[in-house]
Formats: sequence, C-alpha cells, structure tokens
Amino acid sequence: MKKIALLGSTGSIGVSTLAVIGAQRSEFTVTALAAGQNVALLKDQIDRFRPRLAAVFAEEHACALRRLLPADCGTAIVFGPEGYREAATAAGTDMVVSAMVGAAGLIPTLEALDAGIAVALANKETLVMAGGIVLAKAAERGAPLIPVDSEHSAIFQCLQGNRKEEVRRIILTASGGPFLHATREELAAVTIAQALRHPNWTMGKKITIDSATMMNKGLEVIEAAWLFGLPAAAIDVVIHPQSIVHSLVEYRDGSVIAQLGQPDMRGPIAYALSYPRRLTRTDAALDLCKIGTLTFLEPDRDRFPALSLAYAAAKGGGTLPAVLNGANECAVAAFIDGKIGFNDISRVSQKVMESHASECEPTLAAILNADQWARTEAERVIGTDFVPMPRD
Ligand code: MG
Repeated sequence: MKKIALLGSTGSIGVSTLAVIGAQRSEFTVTALAAGQNVALLKDQIDRFRPRLAAVFAEEHACALRRLLPADCGTAIVFGPEGYREAATAAGTDMVVSAMVGAAGLIPTLEALDAGIAVALANKETLVMAGGIVLAKAAERGAPLIPVDSEHSAIFQCLQGNRKEEVRRIILTASGGPFLHATREELAAVTIAQALRHPNWTMGKKITIDSATMMNKGLEVIEAAWLFGLPAAAIDVVIHPQSIVHSLVEYRDGSVIAQLGQPDMRGPIAYALSYPRRLTRTDAALDLCKIGTLTFLEPDRDRFPALSLAYAAAKGGGTLPAVLNGANECAVAAFIDGKIGFNDISRVSQKVMESHASECEPTLAAILNADQWARTEAERVIGTDFVPMPRD
C-alpha cells in the first residue's frame, strides 16, 4: 500500500487524484489532506478516505470542520502554514501530491522534499518560481520529483529507457484554448465566461484563464526546462487542438517519441502515483479511429504574447520567472474581477517584468520577496494604467 498525502484536495487535480485513489483502494491509502476553504467537500473526502490529518488555511475553517466531524473520527484537524507543513510531512507518507493553486504550493512542496518524501508535482509555480532551489533540495534529500502536469508526464514517459544526452528538443503541445482563431481585436472584447470555457480540459479557474492566454504553456516551458535540464531554446510549443498527443521528445537521430491519451488528468495522475509501475485502468482507452484526425499548428506569438514573456523570463532566469508568475496571478485575478480586459493580462505582466531588476541565483527569501514585489507592482499598474472592463 502506498501512503499518499494530498495538498490541494478540493481543487480540480485534488478531486481527480482522489478519483484515481478511490478506484484503486488496494494500491493506496491517504495519510493527510490539505485544502483551502472548501470545508464541505473536505468533510466528504475525510469521510471517504479517513486520513489521520486534515489541514485548512484559516482557523475558523478548522473550527467549522471540527463541528462537522464526529469527535472520534480519527482525523486531527490543523490549520495555517504550520498545518500545511504537518500535512506535507505526515509520518509514514510515501508520496506527497502537490496540487495547491499558484505560489502557495511552493513552501509545502519544499517541506515535503526536505523530509525526504517523493513528490508528485502538479503545482507548476513551484518550479517556475524556485526551480533551482527545489531541484537542489530533491537531490540533497534523495526525494524523487515526478511530474503530474500532462505535458511533463508525457515527456517523462517518452524519456523512459532513452538517453537524455541524446535529446535534441522537447515539443510541448498546447490545445490553443478557446480563442485559437480569434483576432487581437476579438480577444480584447473577450468576456470572463468565454475565457472560462475550455474546449478540452476541465480545470480550475486560474489555469483555465492561463490556458486561454497561453501563459499556462509559457509557465510549462519554464517548468520543463527545470525538470528535464534543457535550455528553454530546446523546448518548442506546437498547437494541437485535439489534446490527444500530450507532448513529444525529439532525439538526435530525428526520431520523435510521443505519448498519447485521453485529455483527462486522471491518466498523468495515475502514472505519477504508481511510477515506475502502471495501474490497470479500464476507462482510459483511446479510440484513434474515432478521433480520426490529429492536427498541429504554429502558435501565434503576436496574438498570444504571454508565450514570449515566458521565454524571456526563462532566458533571464534569476527572480524574473517568479516575477512573471506573481504578476500574472494578480492580472488573472483582476480579469476575473472585471478590472482589466483579456489582452491586458499579458500587458500587466510585461510592464511588471520590464520594471524588475532581476537577481541572479536568488535565495528562497529573495524569490518570495520578488513574488510579493511583483504582486504589489501589478496592483499598482492595474490601478493606474487600465480602465475597468464592462462585466458580462
Ligand atoms: Mg498542462
């Protein structure tokens, strides 16, 4: 039995992770669950999976959760950063699934690695912000880091049994999101509801907006550069609207190995949980004849400038990727609040990046400072340079 601690259990990846675990009860047990504020769903998850520990952020939510559970339920309820730390390092845990949203995932992920626990990483911000520090910690403690992001899981799978020094480039696929063929003018008028309608993947709000701007793909380029030890220049992005080819690796002899599957996060999650084994999953079959056609297109960096911003951040290194990430999180929240338009999301990030003096080889404290600075600066830019959008 593999013992799993799940950080971000009530989010999209968290729910899918528990679906995989629930379908494989003889393989996995849950030691700890950590969530933000969805107390009702967390209570259901505790009832079903009986972890020894459950963590929420706020004390009031911990109190609410305790009231919902019987006193003898066997699950200790903790809260705050210390509570998350307990969940990330719970005794006897074999693997931590890091699936919290945004920058909040960084510290608990580092704490799990520091405790020598394997991490299945779904939180891309962890590597975008602090890839050097996170990988050094994993190496120092001998803790494996297994990707959960579907593209990175695909690359990880395509590398199995091959020599990394023979890789010529990595090709990340991108669905292109809901606005693949929209003009720059059409993009300026996009509503929140339209941006939240992703054609292929069901995901949380933040990542769905990031997919629509292609910032998600940009962050994935930075994530892939760290995970697979390649410069961003050796990582290409190709639009693949069907989301069946999850990514590809090209070797020096011109051979390209791809990984295919349904656009369903349960696939990459199952692989990360069971690696190096594969679980038997009967509901995941791929019917290529039914799919019929797979198409590929060049991404348009004029309409989707977020991609170029991410390459610039990867090239600049230091604190720049953390700044891009922090500014983007703020800008996406402002778009969801109706404060800025769709095209403004990357404009805000670009402005913040341009006024940042990046620090080389930053410490964790410098990275967290840069993240805070980027958020403050993004708020300032949003407040002074942009007019509010009409709400849909
Ligand atoms: Mg992805």
